[in-house]
Amino acid sequence: MDLLRSLPDTTLLTELDALEPFRHDESHLVGHVPLGVVRPRSAAALRELVRLAKAEGFGLVPRGAGTGKAGGCVPTARTVVVDFSAWPGDLNVSSQDLALTAPASALLRDVKAAAIAEGLFYPPDPNSWESCALGGTLATNAGGPNACKYGMTRHWVLSVDALLEDGGIHTFGISSVKSNAGPALGQLLIGSEGIFGLIVGATLRLTPLPREYATLLLPVARWEDLLDLPGRLCGAGYLPSAFEFFDPAVLAELRAHGPEEARRLPGEALAILEFDERGCTSEPFLEGLLDLLGPVADGLEIASDERQRKGIWAVRRMTSAFLKERHPKKVSEDIVVPRSRLREFFAGLDRLGFPSVSYGHLGDGNLHVNLLAAGETDPALLERQLMDLFRLATSLGGTLSGEHGIGLAKRDAFLALSDPAHIQTLRALKRAMDPAGIFNPGKVI
Ligand SMILES: Cc1cc2nc3c(=O)[nH]c(=O)nc-3n(C[C@H](O)[C@H](O)[C@H](O)COP(=O)(O)OP(=O)(O)OC[C@H]3O[C@@H](n4cnc5c(N)ncnc54)[C@H](O)[C@@H]3O)c2cc1C
Repeated sequence: MDLLRSLPDTTLLTELDALEPFRHDESHLVGHVPLGVVRPRSAAALRELVRLAKAEGFGLVPRGAGTGKAGGCVPTARTVVVDFSAWPGDLNVSSQDLALTAPASALLRDVKAAAIAEGLFYPPDPNSWESCALGGTLATNAGGPNACKYGMTRHWVLSVDALLEDGGIHTFGISSVKSNAGPALGQLLIGSEGIFGLIVGATLRLTPLPREYATLLLPVARWEDLLDLPGRLCGAGYLPSAFEFFDPAVLAELRAHGPEEARRLPGEALAILEFDERGCTSEPFLEGLLDLLGPVADGLEIASDERQRKGIWAVRRMTSAFLKERHPKKVSEDIVVPRSRLREFFAGLDRLGFPSVSYGHLGDGNLHVNLLAAGETDPALLERQLMDLFRLATSLGGTLSGEHGIGLAKRDAFLALSDPAHIQTLRALKRAMDPAGIFNPGKVI
């Protein structure tokens, strides 16, 4: 599109070969060929882009690192991809304010490393943390294993800088945890998947870096015993900073076909637990913990140094990539149920009767239910299976997405299963914040 050539401070891609990769993210969806891909480097470029989008009637699809799993950054018809990878800005840590300022383009791994360099901690840890961009994590409200203790990205954002439909960049929030002058509009942008505006940077909340970790590999003889454990631990005053699990089916898959270290994994089912509070490696702490875990454990390993800790985590970190490589057309969901209802969920999943394997974040009930045979399943049947899965989760007080968001992939299910008043309110907000409909059209609602 020739008009895009007039944008200041912008790299423009228009060749078909160059546009092709931008039709994909890490979901199974393939988008339209965008009108172009722009990499803006200044507020002036964004202002002009918004003016052009309104005048010419094209949409703007924001993109971070493209690791999303819901098709959120996949282009819909007549859209321009706004790739934030060249957006300028430095990472600045204030240890007095316990705050870190960063541009949307910063990679999450660099954000986390900048905090660590000052003895501080930024907890959000999606398993894509080494490759995803801060802007993408803010727009999707990303969360990972640590969410069961520390919450999600939105709990760690003090202020957000965002491009709104007036073409200006506005800051919502201040560099302090206490800010209560009216409703928190910045929180509306977190998890909005780019439909209300484009995030260009943020100030994040930090906390002192944990100094101790107790990391345990917990095989269980009876899979069902694992399902009560998150609730029982919390009830007894133990809050893990991570509680990950592998069900018997995924464990069998890993043992049969996984890499060397996965072939030796013990138990009918398996969990990884980590604690990071001060004193968690002390004898009284571990004795109390082992009293709770002992009756269900089928052998138990406690990492005694950082090398062993990394070894325990390596299996969890590679699981998603391994399954994807072995079953390229699998569908991986990320439903949530309250941890008090895990048993009911898995009983319900058994009753649904379709083959699936599950792993993920047992500590907060965020379960990656994978349909490995999705590629060979009749699409209409697959859709029914997924809707049954989502209905099961929502009927237990859960939701259809705990971390990946709605994007394009779950839009129909989201619209079908949500309270109509919820959707009407979101649409009213969309009309108010984006009357011309330029921001990520066709996504979420
Ligand atoms: C192996 C693997 C493991 C993963 N594990 C997790 C996990 O544990 N937890 C989790 O939450 N997610 C996980 N994800 C999904 C994904 O990595 C996260 O959602 C991540 O936050 C996306 O970041 P990104 O920069 O790649 O965003 P993108 O994929 O580029 O974009 C994601 C969404 O955000 C919007 N967006 C991007 N940048 C901006 C911006 N600057 N302003 C406004 N909107 C914007 C896009 O339009 C899109 O809707 C995983 C993905 C993979 C491939």
